[in-house]
Amino acid sequence: MTGDTTPIHGREPRPGGPEWIERYRGSLMNTFGDPQRVLVHGEGAQVWDADGNRYIDLLAGIAVNALGHAHPALVKAVSEQIATLGHISNFFTSPPQVELAEKLLALLGAEGKVFFANSGSEANEAALKATRRTGRTKLVVAEGSFHGRTMGALALTSKEAYRTPFEPLPGEVTWVPYGDADALRAAVDGETAAVVLEPIQGEAGVVVPPEGYLRAARDVTREHGALLWFDEVQTGVGRTGDWFAHTPSGVTPDLVTLAKGLGGGMPIGACIGVGDAGSLFGPGNHGTTFGGNPVATRAALAVIDTIERDDLLTAVDELHRLFVEEFSSIPGVVEVTGRGLLLGVVLERPVAADVMKAALDAGVIVNAPTPDRLRIAPPFVLTSQQARDAVAAIRSVLAEVLP
Ligand SMILES: *Cc1c(COP(=O)(O)O)cnc(C)c1O
Repeated sequence: MTGDTTPIHGREPRPGGPEWIERYRGSLMNTFGDPQRVLVHGEGAQVWDADGNRYIDLLAGIAVNALGHAHPALVKAVSEQIATLGHISNFFTSPPQVELAEKLLALLGAEGKVFFANSGSEANEAALKATRRTGRTKLVVAEGSFHGRTMGALALTSKEAYRTPFEPLPGEVTWVPYGDADALRAAVDGETAAVVLEPIQGEAGVVVPPEGYLRAARDVTREHGALLWFDEVQTGVGRTGDWFAHTPSGVTPDLVTLAKGLGGGMPIGACIGVGDAGSLFGPGNHGTTFGGNPVATRAALAVIDTIERDDLLTAVDELHRLFVEEFSSIPGVVEVTGRGLLLGVVLERPVAADVMKAALDAGVIVNAPTPDRLRIAPPFVLTSQQARDAVAAIRSVLAEVLP
């Protein structure tokens, strides 16, 4: 192996980026296109690439690394657990698994039961299968939704380009415009198994529904005996400044799915069934080999404990205000959507992809979920100085891209 080697903070020198990209092309399926960078090291809200360049990470692995990179509490929890008991299969349980299930129910403030999986899609597959246990098969799902890429989750994901190459997909889905309570009321009837909603749509560009929408969804599902399922895979575990994005609505759903932020970077998903919905599955109805293993659940406990101990929900709110104020003052930004640290920066023209690329060159990681929106979903441990530096870089980029 030849090529540029740059020492990174006293660590082993690594070969430069381009060589890894070549090897990536030669060995990984081309599902994502070329990676934007080769990353080798992270600390807090910063990461470094193989050439030694530093980046402020405003994306956190797509709303995953709530505690940032290499957080000591997470490192300790995972290291201790893997050194003690790493994996056991679901023929057995372990204290962290039980503790995490109890903790999630306590945060939700509801009686219920939890099923652990390894990803958002799998959490949603579990919920989807649970809805079948009602004896009904029809689902009402919102346009703009993203629920994952496995066949069941894909059936509930609205983007045609993702779905059409893989049809037929399971399920009988009625699509309704997101945020339109009347359309929802018109679509739900006595044959509806569940209404599936993100409390804030993430992949659609951080779209917040009108006040009262989640309540309307609760009312109409209750009226027709249908389940209300909130996909909080992106919004859950503190991301919006509350433990769950639906918390301020006062609504109690029947199913809640979690994943991204839950493990702070360790793969874990959860499907929570509230009340009777927690008993839709019986023995043999569903399963997983890895789901809820001791390392993943211990990691999630460390994430939740750290958010509580360091009062990170308050930090999320404070950073929210800083970002909204700073981004709103940039010429070419027409609106800032979202709550907490899940923000959509709406641009006056569809140049989000160009801005994302130029921001990366300037040392800031964001992404462009739609042509005219940037998504900001940084670690909760981002400092206000890092936030200001990152926005200043994006301000300069926009001045160039949007003259
Ligand atoms: C990311 C996401 C998923 C899929 O999660 P994976 O871990 O990628 O399978 C599902 N729902 C929502 C709302 C998401 O943001």
